Amino acid sequence: MAEHTYVLGIDIGGTNIRMGLVDENNELSEYLKVPQESILTGEDTLESLAVYLEGYLAERAKGKDVIAIVAGIPAAMSRDRSTVLNAPNIRGFSGKNVQAALQSHFSCPVLLERDATMLFYYDLYQHNIPHKDIIIGCYIGTGIGNVISVDGKPLVGNDGSAGELGHIPVWDKTDICNCGNEGCMESHVGGKYLVELQKTTFPDVDIHDLFAERGDAPELDRYVEHLSLPITTEINILNPAVIILGGGVLSMPGFPKERLEKYIYKHSRKPFPADNLHIVYSDNGGENGIYGSALYARDILGK
Ligand SMILES: [Zn+2]
Repeated sequence: MAEHTYVLGIDIGGTNIRMGLVDENNELSEYLKVPQESILTGEDTLESLAVYLEGYLAERAKGKDVIAIVAGIPAAMSRDRSTVLNAPNIRGFSGKNVQAALQSHFSCPVLLERDATMLFYYDLYQHNIPHKDIIIGCYIGTGIGNVISVDGKPLVGNDGSAGELGHIPVWDKTDICNCGNEGCMESHVGGKYLVELQKTTFPDVDIHDLFAERGDAPELDRYVEHLSLPITTEINILNPAVIILGGGVLSMPGFPKERLEKYIYKHSRKPFPADNLHIVYSDNGGENGIYGSALYARDILGK
């Protein structure tokens, strides 16, 4: 009998696909980071991904007990997490039953989930947060990744679309979001907005250094307050036990976390949830999605 069991965790990003084998002690091995376009090739990108993974397992997992293959995807997915409804950054996935296409190649279970959920599982593990009660995760990158977990289970919603925090409508805004709607929140508080702000208002500062160099500028102060609004909206609705904040924007050097927390407190209902906010930060490591995928798979499979 094999000594360890492994999960092949895959983090499918808009630019790179990362993967690795994670054992039951959360040790990662055989880590790879490959440009998406080198793996998703040809007409049928699902077939090319499956063939790539078969090669990976044959070469790197020989003789190992791989109990699941699990992928985190930046996508809207069906309630049963088989079909990708819309994945603008992943070529050839939208409208396909990705789970069935991959499963036909492998004997162990193939699981899919939204990438934010995988990060959430990693953050629970890393911060030693018991997965119970109400916990939310808000990941501010180009858009807003959101996870709402109730009693140990991330909310999926009737159609698989719970937790679309970035698409809260903002009144009087008419700009068109990636999703096709007018005036979505993430068009005004996501990383994409920050890039625009840098171009129009701080053209002499590198985007990476925006907070480190101009964090006190009134435009950035306003940005941070605006960013607090969707987060606090969710806090006021759910009164969560723990609030996990992360994503590329919050990991920028000099990002004013204290000021964000001040604004979250300001807009939270008093006395509660305002007086009992338990905020923790994600460390935004590049391999978190792989670890999180493995933790997710073991949770789902009970292994
Ligand atoms: Zn939208």
